[in-house]
Amino acid sequence: MDLKIVKNAVLGLVVGDILGVPVEFMSREELAEDPVTGIREYGTHSQPAGTWSDDSSMALCLLKSLSKGLDYQDIMSRFLRWAEEGYMTAHNEVFDMGFATREALVRFSEGTPPLKCGGTGTYDNGNGSLMRILPLALWLHDHINEKFPHNSSSYQIIHNVSALTHAHPISLISCGIYCSVANELICGRTSLKDIQNGITTAKDFYQSLPEFSRYLPKFERVDVYLLQSLPKEDISSGGFVIHTLEAALWCLSHSSDYRSCLLEAVNLGEDTDTTGAVAGGLAGLKYGWQEIPEEWLSSTAKLDDILELCRIFSASV
Ligand SMILES: [Mg+2]
Repeated sequence: MDLKIVKNAVLGLVVGDILGVPVEFMSREELAEDPVTGIREYGTHSQPAGTWSDDSSMALCLLKSLSKGLDYQDIMSRFLRWAEEGYMTAHNEVFDMGFATREALVRFSEGTPPLKCGGTGTYDNGNGSLMRILPLALWLHDHINEKFPHNSSSYQIIHNVSALTHAHPISLISCGIYCSVANELICGRTSLKDIQNGITTAKDFYQSLPEFSRYLPKFERVDVYLLQSLPKEDISSGGFVIHTLEAALWCLSHSSDYRSCLLEAVNLGEDTDTTGAVAGGLAGLKYGWQEIPEEWLSSTAKLDDILELCRIFSASV
């Protein structure tokens, strides 16, 4: 796969995460008083500027694993190394981990098979699999083909990769829709109409299967035109996976460049790093990594290592 596309996705995601880390958990009202306008240091997690978090670490674990082929055991083993050893972290330490991810990794470390590790309860629908799924869209685009969102076996793989930590149908559908939208952008189709096509393609697939179609009413607002029409007050930016998906699409529809998209995302408040990562991956694919402000990109911890991972993945697919 073209290295540029890999960099668009990965750097877009990582820089979005970085922007959000210092202000995670701040409310929208607090941020309105002192909005994020660029890379900050310290703040919520007392990390230096350019520090990325679990979102990027887990996405990079997936990227690295997929560069060797699809192996669920290998993906989970890398996630566990992240949790236990600080593998694929900005400064060799883990400073945040979602509850469902933690529970899944405990199960894995106790011998549960990888595809049985993710939580299946309604409360297991945090955004912890959505935030790291993007490398899989790149992989499917090359290993299935550019029509992978029309192929049911693609969804099985997306669902399996989500289910390593998040196995409820709401999380699976969120990842399926996100990968389908990402595919449009990977193909160079970047208009709102194209993004909506990506959403509709995935929803049509889910509509055909009763075990998923019963959850589709919860995704009614996952419609880029509907979201574009909504004021910011109607957008939630906490940890619920559908809210994160809506927020990312809302930011994409309310901006015309990477910078403004990401500042919208982070200034929504609450789960700022994950909203930034999920919106950032799409914005990177839409606008291209060269559109990421130079001072944001150059702050990135271990940038050379990330670029090397992109190169290895690009050469492998
Ligand atoms: Mg995070």
